Amino acid sequence: MVKISNIKVYENIADNKIIDLVIKKYKINSNDILNWHIVKKSIDARKKDDVHYNYSINLELKNENKYKKFEKVSKKILPNIEINNLDKKIPLIIGSGPSGLFAALTMVQNGLKPTVIEQGDAIEKRQEVVNNFRNKGMLNPLSNVQFGEGGAGTFSDGKLTTGIHSPFCNKVLQEFVNFGAPESTLYLAKPHIGTDNLINIIKNIREYIISKGGKFLFNTKAIDFNINDNKIKSVICNNNGNIFEIPATHVVLAIGHSARDTFFKLYEKGILMEKKNFSVGVRIEHLQDSINKAQYGTSTKLKLPPAEYKLAYHSKTGRSCYTFCMCPGGVVIASSSDENTIVTNGMSNYLRDGKNANSAILVNVTPDDFKGDSPLLGIQFQKDLENKAFVLGGSNYYAPIQRVEDFIKNKKSEFIGKVKPSYLPGVTLSNLQEILPRFVSNTLIEGINYFDTKLKGFSDPDSILTGVETRSSSPVRILRNNENLNSNILGLYPCGEGARICRWNNVSCC
Ligand SMILES: Cc1cc2nc3c(=O)[nH]c(=O)nc-3n(C[C@H](O)[C@H](O)[C@H](O)COP(=O)(O)OP(=O)(O)OC[C@H]3O[C@@H](n4cnc5c(N)ncnc54)[C@H](O)[C@@H]3O)c2cc1C
Repeated sequence: MVKISNIKVYENIADNKIIDLVIKKYKINSNDILNWHIVKKSIDARKKDDVHYNYSINLELKNENKYKKFEKVSKKILPNIEINNLDKKIPLIIGSGPSGLFAALTMVQNGLKPTVIEQGDAIEKRQEVVNNFRNKGMLNPLSNVQFGEGGAGTFSDGKLTTGIHSPFCNKVLQEFVNFGAPESTLYLAKPHIGTDNLINIIKNIREYIISKGGKFLFNTKAIDFNINDNKIKSVICNNNGNIFEIPATHVVLAIGHSARDTFFKLYEKGILMEKKNFSVGVRIEHLQDSINKAQYGTSTKLKLPPAEYKLAYHSKTGRSCYTFCMCPGGVVIASSSDENTIVTNGMSNYLRDGKNANSAILVNVTPDDFKGDSPLLGIQFQKDLENKAFVLGGSNYYAPIQRVEDFIKNKKSEFIGKVKPSYLPGVTLSNLQEILPRFVSNTLIEGINYFDTKLKGFSDPDSILTGVETRSSSPVRILRNNENLNSNILGLYPCGEGARICRWNNVSCC
Protein backbone atom coordinates (compact mmCIF):
# COMPACT_ATOMS: atom_id res chain seq x y z
CA MET A 1 0.00 0.00 0.00
CA VAL A 2 1.20 3.55 -0.68
CA LYS A 3 0.32 6.84 0.93
CA ILE A 4 -0.11 10.23 -0.73
CA SER A 5 -0.05 13.10 1.72
CA ASN A 6 -0.57 16.82 1.59
CA ILE A 7 -3.15 16.78 -1.21
CA LYS A 8 -4.36 20.36 -1.34
CA VAL A 9 -7.97 20.81 -2.42
CA TYR A 10 -9.44 24.20 -3.32
CA GLU A 11 -12.76 22.98 -4.75
CA ASN A 12 -15.91 21.68 -3.11
CA ILE A 13 -15.56 17.94 -3.82
CA ALA A 14 -17.35 15.12 -2.02
CA ASP A 15 -14.92 12.89 -0.10
CA ASN A 16 -15.77 9.84 -2.20
CA LYS A 17 -14.81 11.74 -5.36
CA ILE A 18 -11.38 12.81 -4.14
CA ILE A 19 -9.85 9.85 -5.97
CA ASP A 20 -10.72 11.42 -9.36
CA LEU A 21 -8.65 14.47 -8.49
CA VAL A 22 -5.78 12.28 -7.23
CA ILE A 23 -5.76 10.17 -10.42
CA LYS A 24 -5.44 13.30 -12.51
CA LYS A 25 -2.96 15.16 -10.35
CA TYR A 26 -0.59 12.23 -9.69
CA LYS A 27 -1.01 10.55 -13.10
CA ILE A 28 -2.25 7.23 -11.77
CA ASN A 29 -3.82 4.70 -14.11
CA SER A 30 -7.31 4.18 -12.68
CA ASN A 31 -7.15 0.47 -13.67
CA ASP A 32 -4.22 0.06 -11.26
CA ILE A 33 -6.29 1.09 -8.24
CA LEU A 34 -7.44 -1.92 -6.22
CA ASN A 35 -8.58 -0.05 -3.18
CA TRP A 36 -8.25 3.36 -1.55
CA HIS A 37 -9.35 5.22 1.53
CA ILE A 38 -8.89 8.62 3.13
CA VAL A 39 -6.50 8.60 6.07
CA LYS A 40 -6.78 12.25 7.10
CA LYS A 41 -8.78 15.31 6.13
CA SER A 42 -8.13 18.68 7.70
CA ILE A 43 -8.64 22.35 6.95
CA ASP A 44 -5.61 24.58 6.51
CA ALA A 45 -6.70 28.15 7.25
CA ARG A 46 -3.39 29.52 8.48
CA LYS A 47 -3.26 31.96 5.55
CA LYS A 48 -6.62 33.62 4.94
CA ASP A 49 -5.89 33.99 1.18
CA ASP A 50 -4.93 30.31 0.88
CA VAL A 51 -7.64 28.41 2.76
CA HIS A 52 -7.88 24.80 1.56
CA TYR A 53 -8.63 21.24 2.54
CA ASN A 54 -5.68 18.93 3.08
CA TYR A 55 -6.09 15.19 2.45
CA SER A 56 -3.92 12.12 2.90
CA ILE A 57 -5.01 8.90 1.23
CA ASN A 58 -3.80 5.30 1.16
CA LEU A 59 -3.95 3.32 -2.10
CA GLU A 60 -3.57 -0.34 -2.85
CA LEU A 61 -2.17 -0.50 -6.38
CA LYS A 62 -1.54 -3.10 -9.02
CA ASN A 63 1.93 -2.66 -10.52
CA GLU A 64 3.12 -0.81 -7.42
CA ASN A 65 6.65 -0.66 -8.89
CA LYS A 66 5.41 1.91 -11.39
CA TYR A 67 4.65 4.27 -8.50
CA LYS A 68 7.99 4.41 -6.69
CA LYS A 69 7.58 8.11 -5.90
CA PHE A 70 4.88 7.36 -3.34
CA GLU A 71 5.65 6.48 0.27
CA LYS A 72 5.07 2.78 1.09
CA VAL A 73 2.98 2.08 4.17
CA SER A 74 1.58 -1.01 5.82
CA LYS A 75 -1.99 -1.64 6.86
CA LYS A 76 -2.92 -0.36 10.32
CA ILE A 77 -3.87 -3.23 12.59
CA LEU A 78 -6.22 -2.37 15.41
CA PRO A 79 -4.96 -3.50 18.81
CA ASN A 80 -6.72 -6.37 20.45
CA ILE A 81 -7.60 -6.13 24.10
CA GLU A 82 -7.31 -9.54 25.68
CA ILE A 83 -8.74 -10.11 29.10
CA ASN A 84 -6.89 -12.77 31.06
CA ASN A 85 -7.02 -13.84 34.67
CA LEU A 86 -10.71 -13.12 35.11
CA ASP A 87 -12.49 -16.07 36.61
CA LYS A 88 -15.94 -17.02 35.44
CA LYS A 89 -17.74 -14.85 38.00
CA ILE A 90 -19.83 -12.07 36.49
CA PRO A 91 -17.93 -8.77 36.44
CA LEU A 92 -19.84 -5.76 37.73
CA ILE A 93 -19.46 -2.33 36.15
CA ILE A 94 -20.68 0.74 38.04
CA GLY A 95 -21.55 3.53 35.61
CA SER A 96 -22.57 3.47 31.94
CA GLY A 97 -20.58 6.48 30.71
CA PRO A 98 -17.99 6.01 27.95
CA SER A 99 -15.57 4.20 30.28
CA GLY A 100 -18.23 1.83 31.66
CA LEU A 101 -19.76 1.17 28.22
CA PHE A 102 -16.39 0.50 26.59
CA ALA A 103 -15.38 -1.75 29.51
CA ALA A 104 -18.61 -3.73 28.99
CA LEU A 105 -18.11 -3.83 25.22
CA THR A 106 -14.55 -5.12 25.60
CA MET A 107 -15.72 -7.75 28.06
CA VAL A 108 -18.46 -9.13 25.80
CA GLN A 109 -15.98 -9.14 22.90
CA ASN A 110 -13.90 -11.43 25.13
CA GLY A 111 -16.76 -13.75 26.01
CA LEU A 112 -17.60 -12.31 29.44
CA LYS A 113 -21.12 -11.33 30.48
CA PRO A 114 -20.89 -8.21 32.64
CA THR A 115 -23.66 -6.54 34.62
CA VAL A 116 -23.72 -2.75 34.28
CA ILE A 117 -25.48 -0.72 36.96
CA GLU A 118 -26.36 2.91 36.30
CA GLN A 119 -28.03 5.32 38.74
CA GLY A 120 -29.67 7.29 35.93
CA ASP A 121 -32.15 6.42 33.20
CA ALA A 122 -31.70 4.53 29.96
CA ILE A 123 -31.10 6.94 27.10
CA GLU A 124 -34.71 7.02 25.81
CA LYS A 125 -36.10 8.15 29.19
CA ARG A 126 -33.05 10.29 29.92
CA GLN A 127 -33.83 12.52 26.95
CA GLU A 128 -37.17 13.29 28.59
CA VAL A 129 -35.68 14.19 31.98
CA VAL A 130 -33.01 16.37 30.38
CA ASN A 131 -35.72 18.19 28.43
CA ASN A 132 -37.76 18.61 31.63
CA PHE A 133 -34.82 20.37 33.23
CA ARG A 134 -34.07 22.50 30.18
CA ASN A 135 -37.66 23.53 29.63
CA LYS A 136 -39.17 23.56 33.12
CA GLY A 137 -36.22 23.71 35.55
CA MET A 138 -37.21 20.34 37.07
CA LEU A 139 -33.94 18.66 38.14
CA ASN A 140 -33.65 14.92 38.76
CA PRO A 141 -30.43 14.51 40.80
CA LEU A 142 -30.03 10.89 39.65
CA SER A 143 -30.69 11.35 35.95
CA ASN A 144 -29.61 14.51 34.13
CA VAL A 145 -26.93 15.85 31.77
CA GLN A 146 -24.18 14.31 33.95
CA PHE A 147 -25.89 11.03 34.91
CA GLY A 148 -27.63 8.29 32.95
CA GLU A 149 -26.88 5.96 30.08
CA GLY A 150 -24.00 7.28 27.98
CA GLY A 151 -22.64 9.30 30.89
CA ALA A 152 -21.66 12.95 31.01
CA GLY A 153 -20.94 13.45 27.33
CA THR A 154 -24.20 12.17 25.85
CA PHE A 155 -25.67 15.65 25.52
CA SER A 156 -22.47 17.12 24.16
CA ASP A 157 -20.71 18.04 20.96
CA GLY A 158 -19.32 14.51 20.88
CA LYS A 159 -15.81 15.72 20.13
CA LEU A 160 -13.46 12.79 19.69
CA THR A 161 -10.14 14.59 19.83
CA THR A 162 -7.35 13.69 22.20
CA GLY A 163 -3.76 14.65 22.91
CA ILE A 164 -2.71 11.10 23.72
CA HIS A 165 -1.10 8.89 21.07
CA SER A 166 -2.43 5.44 21.76
CA PRO A 167 -3.32 2.76 19.20
CA PHE A 168 -6.52 2.30 21.20
CA CYS A 169 -7.72 5.71 19.96
CA ASN A 170 -8.26 4.13 16.53
CA LYS A 171 -10.10 1.23 18.09
CA VAL A 172 -12.46 3.62 19.89
CA LEU A 173 -13.13 5.52 16.63
CA GLN A 174 -13.70 2.25 14.77
CA GLU A 175 -16.21 1.07 17.40
CA PHE A 176 -18.11 4.35 17.05
CA VAL A 177 -18.32 3.79 13.30
CA ASN A 178 -19.35 0.15 13.82
CA PHE A 179 -22.25 1.35 15.96
CA GLY A 180 -23.47 4.10 13.66
CA ALA A 181 -21.10 7.09 13.52
CA PRO A 182 -20.33 8.45 10.03
CA GLU A 183 -17.34 6.82 8.25
CA SER A 184 -15.58 10.22 8.24
CA THR A 185 -15.08 9.84 12.01
CA LEU A 186 -12.09 7.67 11.06
CA TYR A 187 -10.27 10.34 9.06
CA LEU A 188 -11.37 13.83 10.03
CA ALA A 189 -8.62 15.67 11.88
CA LYS A 190 -11.17 16.71 14.50
CA PRO A 191 -14.05 14.26 14.40
CA HIS A 192 -17.23 14.92 16.32
CA ILE A 193 -20.45 12.94 16.57
CA GLY A 194 -23.10 15.36 17.83
CA THR A 195 -25.81 14.72 20.41
CA ASP A 196 -28.32 13.59 17.78
CA ASN A 197 -26.05 10.76 16.56
CA LEU A 198 -24.67 9.87 19.98
CA ILE A 199 -28.08 9.00 21.34
CA ASN A 200 -28.59 6.26 18.73
CA ILE A 201 -25.01 5.02 18.93
CA ILE A 202 -25.23 4.53 22.70
CA LYS A 203 -28.48 2.60 22.29
CA ASN A 204 -26.83 0.40 19.62
CA ILE A 205 -23.85 -0.33 21.90
CA ARG A 206 -26.20 -1.28 24.75
CA GLU A 207 -28.28 -3.58 22.52
CA TYR A 208 -25.13 -5.31 21.25
CA ILE A 209 -23.83 -5.87 24.81
CA ILE A 210 -27.19 -7.35 25.82
CA SER A 211 -27.23 -9.58 22.70
CA LYS A 212 -23.90 -11.02 23.89
CA GLY A 213 -25.22 -11.83 27.36
CA GLY A 214 -24.46 -8.56 29.21
CA LYS A 215 -27.06 -7.03 31.50
CA PHE A 216 -28.03 -3.42 32.33
CA LEU A 217 -29.75 -2.31 35.54
CA PHE A 218 -30.84 1.32 35.17
CA ASN A 219 -32.04 3.52 38.05
CA THR A 220 -29.77 1.40 40.21
CA LYS A 221 -27.26 3.18 42.39
CA ALA A 222 -24.27 1.63 44.16
CA ILE A 223 -24.69 2.95 47.71
CA ASP A 224 -22.21 0.84 49.67
CA PHE A 225 -19.27 -1.49 49.18
CA ASN A 226 -18.62 -4.66 51.20
CA ILE A 227 -14.91 -5.09 51.61
CA ASN A 228 -13.35 -7.97 53.46
CA ASP A 229 -9.70 -8.79 53.89
CA ASN A 230 -8.83 -5.89 51.56
CA LYS A 231 -10.90 -7.46 48.76
CA ILE A 232 -14.23 -6.35 47.31
CA LYS A 233 -16.97 -8.87 48.09
CA SER A 234 -20.22 -7.22 47.07
CA VAL A 235 -21.92 -3.95 46.21
CA ILE A 236 -25.12 -2.72 47.88
CA CYS A 237 -27.56 -1.17 45.42
CA ASN A 238 -30.65 0.97 45.61
CA ASN A 239 -33.27 0.72 42.89
CA ASN A 240 -36.08 3.17 43.67
CA GLY A 241 -35.92 2.33 47.38
CA ASN A 242 -35.46 -1.41 46.85
CA ILE A 243 -32.12 -2.23 48.52
CA PHE A 244 -30.27 -5.35 47.38
CA GLU A 245 -26.76 -6.80 47.28
CA ILE A 246 -24.81 -7.88 44.20
CA PRO A 247 -21.97 -10.27 45.07
CA ALA A 248 -18.95 -9.29 42.96
CA THR A 249 -15.24 -9.97 43.12
CA HIS A 250 -14.39 -7.86 40.05
CA VAL A 251 -15.90 -4.39 40.08
CA VAL A 252 -15.11 -1.67 37.53
CA LEU A 253 -15.63 1.74 39.08
CA ALA A 254 -16.61 3.90 36.10
CA ILE A 255 -18.43 6.59 38.08
CA GLY A 256 -17.22 9.76 36.31
CA HIS A 257 -16.30 12.90 38.24
CA SER A 258 -19.65 14.19 39.40
CA ALA A 259 -21.07 11.42 41.62
CA ARG A 260 -20.05 13.30 44.73
CA ASP A 261 -21.89 11.14 47.28
CA THR A 262 -20.23 8.03 45.82
CA PHE A 263 -16.79 9.66 46.21
CA PHE A 264 -17.60 10.38 49.86
CA LYS A 265 -18.74 6.78 50.41
CA LEU A 266 -15.60 5.38 48.77
CA TYR A 267 -13.44 7.65 50.94
CA GLU A 268 -15.29 6.49 54.06
CA LYS A 269 -14.59 2.89 52.99
CA GLY A 270 -10.85 3.54 52.81
CA ILE A 271 -10.37 3.71 49.05
CA LEU A 272 -7.25 5.78 48.44
CA MET A 273 -7.69 9.02 46.52
CA GLU A 274 -5.89 12.34 46.19
CA LYS A 275 -6.78 15.93 45.37
CA LYS A 276 -5.63 17.25 42.04
CA ASN A 277 -5.58 20.37 39.87
CA PHE A 278 -8.76 21.29 38.06
CA SER A 279 -10.23 24.42 36.48
CA VAL A 280 -13.22 26.70 36.84
CA GLY A 281 -14.63 29.55 34.78
CA VAL A 282 -17.54 30.44 32.53
CA ARG A 283 -18.94 29.66 29.04
CA ILE A 284 -18.52 32.29 26.37
CA GLU A 285 -20.87 32.66 23.38
CA HIS A 286 -20.16 34.47 20.10
CA LEU A 287 -22.00 34.56 16.82
CA GLN A 288 -20.77 31.57 14.80
CA ASP A 289 -20.51 33.86 11.76
CA SER A 290 -17.95 36.05 13.55
CA ILE A 291 -15.85 33.00 14.43
CA ASN A 292 -16.05 31.77 10.82
CA LYS A 293 -14.86 35.15 9.55
CA ALA A 294 -12.04 35.33 12.10
CA GLN A 295 -10.83 31.81 11.27
CA TYR A 296 -11.45 31.49 7.53
CA GLY A 297 -11.39 35.11 6.32
CA THR A 298 -13.88 36.15 3.65
CA SER A 299 -12.19 35.29 0.35
CA THR A 300 -12.55 31.48 0.26
CA LYS A 301 -15.20 29.93 -2.01
CA LEU A 302 -14.99 26.62 -0.16
CA LYS A 303 -18.02 25.38 1.76
CA LEU A 304 -16.39 24.96 5.15
CA PRO A 305 -17.82 23.55 8.37
CA PRO A 306 -18.52 25.99 11.24
CA ALA A 307 -15.09 27.09 12.49
CA GLU A 308 -13.49 26.06 15.76
CA TYR A 309 -10.81 27.57 17.96
CA LYS A 310 -8.56 26.59 20.84
CA LEU A 311 -6.67 29.26 22.76
CA ALA A 312 -4.42 29.46 25.79
CA TYR A 313 -2.86 32.25 27.83
CA HIS A 314 -0.29 32.19 30.64
CA SER A 315 -0.49 35.07 33.09
CA LYS A 316 2.51 36.55 34.89
CA THR A 317 0.71 35.60 38.12
CA GLY A 318 1.39 31.95 37.31
CA ARG A 319 -2.27 31.22 36.46
CA SER A 320 -3.38 30.00 33.05
CA CYS A 321 -6.53 30.68 31.10
CA TYR A 322 -7.63 28.47 28.23
CA THR A 323 -10.63 27.71 26.09
CA PHE A 324 -12.05 24.23 26.39
CA CYS A 325 -14.66 22.05 24.76
CA MET A 326 -15.51 24.51 21.99
CA CYS A 327 -18.90 23.75 20.44
CA PRO A 328 -19.39 25.35 17.00
CA GLY A 329 -23.03 26.04 16.19
CA GLY A 330 -24.03 24.71 19.59
CA VAL A 331 -25.85 25.73 22.74
CA VAL A 332 -24.83 26.22 26.35
CA ILE A 333 -26.48 23.41 28.27
CA ALA A 334 -27.71 23.25 31.87
CA SER A 335 -25.54 20.54 33.41
CA SER A 336 -26.42 20.57 37.11
CA SER A 337 -26.54 17.28 38.95
CA ASP A 338 -26.96 18.60 42.52
CA GLU A 339 -29.99 20.55 43.68
CA ASN A 340 -29.57 24.33 44.01
CA THR A 341 -26.54 24.51 41.75
CA ILE A 342 -25.85 25.93 38.30
CA VAL A 343 -23.33 24.17 36.08
CA THR A 344 -22.69 25.02 32.41
CA ASN A 345 -21.34 22.97 29.53
CA GLY A 346 -21.71 22.88 25.74
CA MET A 347 -23.61 20.74 23.25
CA SER A 348 -24.05 20.61 19.45
CA ASN A 349 -25.85 18.46 16.95
CA TYR A 350 -23.91 16.80 14.13
CA LEU A 351 -24.49 19.65 11.67
CA ARG A 352 -23.44 22.27 14.18
CA ASP A 353 -25.90 24.60 12.55
CA GLY A 354 -26.90 26.78 15.51
CA LYS A 355 -26.42 30.56 15.46
CA ASN A 356 -23.88 30.72 18.29
CA ALA A 357 -20.47 29.25 18.97
CA ASN A 358 -19.62 28.51 22.60
CA SER A 359 -16.69 27.31 24.63
CA ALA A 360 -15.60 27.19 28.24
CA ILE A 361 -12.96 29.70 29.33
CA LEU A 362 -11.25 28.29 32.36
CA VAL A 363 -8.63 29.19 34.94
CA ASN A 364 -6.57 26.56 36.72
CA VAL A 365 -7.20 25.85 40.40
CA THR A 366 -4.62 23.98 42.48
CA PRO A 367 -5.02 22.16 45.81
CA ASP A 368 -3.16 25.14 47.38
CA ASP A 369 -6.26 27.25 46.71
CA PHE A 370 -8.14 25.46 49.51
CA LYS A 371 -6.56 24.54 52.80
CA GLY A 372 -6.88 21.15 54.48
CA ASP A 373 -5.93 17.54 53.96
CA SER A 374 -9.10 15.85 52.74
CA PRO A 375 -8.84 14.81 49.08
CA LEU A 376 -12.48 15.86 48.70
CA LEU A 377 -11.95 19.58 49.34
CA GLY A 378 -11.95 20.38 45.62
CA ILE A 379 -15.50 19.05 45.38
CA GLN A 380 -16.59 21.54 48.06
CA PHE A 381 -14.81 24.36 46.20
CA GLN A 382 -16.72 23.49 43.00
CA LYS A 383 -20.02 23.15 44.84
CA ASP A 384 -19.71 26.51 46.65
CA LEU A 385 -19.28 28.22 43.30
CA GLU A 386 -22.21 26.34 41.76
CA ASN A 387 -24.45 27.32 44.73
CA LYS A 388 -23.45 30.98 44.40
CA ALA A 389 -24.29 30.89 40.67
CA PHE A 390 -27.70 29.40 41.55
CA VAL A 391 -28.45 32.28 43.95
CA LEU A 392 -27.09 34.93 41.55
CA GLY A 393 -29.30 33.51 38.80
CA GLY A 394 -32.43 33.92 40.97
CA SER A 395 -32.60 30.52 42.77
CA ASN A 396 -34.77 29.04 40.02
CA TYR A 397 -32.15 27.29 37.81
CA TYR A 398 -31.77 30.37 35.62
CA ALA A 399 -28.08 30.93 34.91
CA PRO A 400 -26.35 34.24 35.63
CA ILE A 401 -25.10 35.87 32.42
CA GLN A 402 -23.11 38.97 31.57
CA ARG A 403 -21.90 40.78 28.46
CA VAL A 404 -18.11 40.62 28.08
CA GLU A 405 -17.79 44.41 28.11
CA ASP A 406 -19.61 44.57 31.47
CA PHE A 407 -17.58 41.71 32.91
CA ILE A 408 -14.37 43.55 32.10
CA LYS A 409 -15.79 46.75 33.66
CA ASN A 410 -17.03 44.79 36.71
CA LYS A 411 -20.62 46.01 36.35
CA LYS A 412 -23.91 44.17 36.13
CA SER A 413 -25.27 43.83 32.59
CA GLU A 414 -28.44 45.79 31.90
CA PHE A 415 -29.23 44.48 28.41
CA ILE A 416 -28.42 41.72 25.94
CA GLY A 417 -26.80 42.78 22.66
CA LYS A 418 -26.43 40.99 19.35
CA VAL A 419 -25.39 37.66 20.90
CA LYS A 420 -28.47 36.02 22.41
CA PRO A 421 -27.75 33.53 25.21
CA SER A 422 -28.78 29.95 24.40
CA TYR A 423 -28.98 28.60 27.98
CA LEU A 424 -32.33 27.11 29.05
CA PRO A 425 -34.51 27.21 31.13
CA GLY A 426 -33.55 30.90 31.36
CA VAL A 427 -30.94 33.50 32.23
CA THR A 428 -30.57 36.45 34.61
CA LEU A 429 -28.52 39.57 33.83
CA SER A 430 -25.82 39.67 36.51
CA ASN A 431 -22.30 40.60 37.51
CA LEU A 432 -20.37 37.32 37.51
CA GLN A 433 -17.44 38.96 39.29
CA GLU A 434 -19.61 38.95 42.44
CA ILE A 435 -19.31 35.17 42.70
CA LEU A 436 -16.03 34.23 41.01
CA PRO A 437 -12.86 34.17 43.13
CA ARG A 438 -10.78 37.27 42.40
CA PHE A 439 -7.94 35.28 40.80
CA VAL A 440 -10.43 33.66 38.42
CA SER A 441 -12.03 36.97 37.31
CA ASN A 442 -8.67 38.68 36.86
CA THR A 443 -7.16 35.84 34.85
CA LEU A 444 -10.32 35.56 32.73
CA ILE A 445 -10.10 39.26 31.85
CA GLU A 446 -6.42 38.98 30.91
CA GLY A 447 -7.21 35.85 28.90
CA ILE A 448 -10.19 37.35 27.05
CA ASN A 449 -8.14 40.42 26.06
CA TYR A 450 -5.24 38.25 24.91
CA PHE A 451 -7.50 35.87 22.95
CA ASP A 452 -8.84 38.87 21.02
CA THR A 453 -5.33 39.42 19.64
CA LYS A 454 -5.37 35.84 18.31
CA LEU A 455 -9.01 35.59 17.25
CA LYS A 456 -10.49 38.90 16.15
CA GLY A 457 -13.76 39.64 17.93
CA PHE A 458 -13.20 37.28 20.86
CA SER A 459 -13.68 40.17 23.29
CA ASP A 460 -16.66 41.61 21.35
CA PRO A 461 -18.57 43.70 23.95
CA ASP A 462 -21.77 41.76 23.22
CA SER A 463 -20.28 38.28 23.68
CA ILE A 464 -22.12 36.53 26.46
CA LEU A 465 -20.61 34.88 29.53
CA THR A 466 -22.71 32.28 31.35
CA GLY A 467 -21.66 31.02 34.78
CA VAL A 468 -20.38 28.74 36.07
CA GLU A 469 -18.31 26.05 34.39
CA THR A 470 -16.88 23.80 37.11
CA ARG A 471 -16.90 20.23 35.82
CA SER A 472 -14.32 20.23 33.06
CA SER A 473 -12.25 17.74 35.03
CA SER A 474 -12.27 15.86 38.30
CA PRO A 475 -10.89 17.54 41.42
CA VAL A 476 -10.15 14.05 42.81
CA ARG A 477 -8.15 11.09 41.55
CA ILE A 478 -8.90 7.57 42.75
CA LEU A 479 -5.51 5.91 42.91
CA ARG A 480 -4.84 2.71 41.03
CA ASN A 481 -1.89 0.41 40.54
CA ASN A 482 -0.65 0.87 37.00
CA GLU A 483 0.31 -2.77 36.59
CA ASN A 484 -2.75 -4.66 37.79
CA LEU A 485 -5.17 -1.69 37.56
CA ASN A 486 -6.52 -2.34 41.08
CA SER A 487 -7.29 0.38 43.57
CA ASN A 488 -5.89 -0.30 47.04
CA ILE A 489 -8.84 -2.73 47.34
CA LEU A 490 -8.30 -5.90 45.32
CA GLY A 491 -10.93 -6.43 42.65
CA LEU A 492 -12.00 -2.77 42.60
CA TYR A 493 -10.79 -1.23 39.33
CA PRO A 494 -11.19 2.55 38.97
CA CYS A 495 -11.33 3.78 35.38
CA GLY A 496 -12.29 6.78 33.27
CA GLU A 497 -12.85 10.32 34.40
CA GLY A 498 -13.40 9.59 38.12
CA ALA A 499 -10.01 8.00 38.34
CA ARG A 500 -8.80 10.78 36.00
CA ILE A 501 -6.96 8.04 34.18
CA CYS A 502 -8.46 8.20 30.76
CA ARG A 503 -10.57 10.83 29.09
CA TRP A 504 -11.93 11.24 25.62
CA ASN A 505 -10.34 14.61 25.36
CA ASN A 506 -7.91 15.98 27.89
CA VAL A 507 -7.28 19.54 28.91
CA SER A 508 -4.49 19.98 26.42
CA CYS A 509 -6.47 19.03 23.38
CA CYS A 510 -10.23 19.71 23.49
C1 LIG B 1 -22.38 18.63 28.47
C2 LIG B 1 -21.05 17.93 28.36
C3 LIG B 1 -20.37 17.98 27.15
C4 LIG B 1 -19.16 17.29 26.99
N1 LIG B 1 -18.57 17.29 25.76
C5 LIG B 1 -17.52 16.47 25.53
C6 LIG B 1 -17.01 16.30 24.22
O1 LIG B 1 -17.50 16.87 23.25
N2 LIG B 1 -15.94 15.47 24.05
C7 LIG B 1 -15.37 14.82 25.14
O2 LIG B 1 -14.42 14.08 24.93
N3 LIG B 1 -15.83 14.98 26.39
C8 LIG B 1 -16.91 15.76 26.62
N4 LIG B 1 -17.41 15.89 27.88
C9 LIG B 1 -16.72 15.18 28.97
C10 LIG B 1 -17.04 13.68 28.89
O3 LIG B 1 -18.42 13.53 28.87
C11 LIG B 1 -16.43 12.92 30.06
O4 LIG B 1 -15.03 13.07 29.98
C12 LIG B 1 -16.80 11.45 29.99
O5 LIG B 1 -18.19 11.29 29.98
C13 LIG B 1 -16.21 10.69 31.17
O6 LIG B 1 -16.58 9.35 31.03
P1 LIG B 1 -16.72 8.38 32.28
O7 LIG B 1 -17.28 7.12 31.77
O8 LIG B 1 -15.42 8.32 33.00
O9 LIG B 1 -17.73 9.10 33.29
P2 LIG B 1 -19.21 9.63 33.07
O10 LIG B 1 -19.50 9.86 31.65
O11 LIG B 1 -19.38 10.76 34.02
O12 LIG B 1 -20.12 8.41 33.51
C14 LIG B 1 -20.24 8.00 34.84
C15 LIG B 1 -21.59 7.32 34.99
O13 LIG B 1 -21.58 6.64 36.24
C16 LIG B 1 -22.84 6.79 36.85
N5 LIG B 1 -22.66 6.62 38.31
C17 LIG B 1 -21.88 7.38 39.12
N6 LIG B 1 -21.95 6.92 40.39
C18 LIG B 1 -22.77 5.86 40.36
C19 LIG B 1 -23.24 4.99 41.37
N7 LIG B 1 -22.87 5.13 42.66
N8 LIG B 1 -24.08 3.98 41.01
C20 LIG B 1 -24.49 3.84 39.71
N9 LIG B 1 -24.09 4.67 38.72
C21 LIG B 1 -23.23 5.66 39.04
C22 LIG B 1 -23.27 8.19 36.47
O14 LIG B 1 -24.67 8.31 36.56
C23 LIG B 1 -22.75 8.30 35.04
O15 LIG B 1 -23.71 7.96 34.08
C24 LIG B 1 -18.60 16.58 28.09
C25 LIG B 1 -19.27 16.57 29.33
C26 LIG B 1 -20.48 17.23 29.47
C27 LIG B 1 -21.19 17.20 30.81
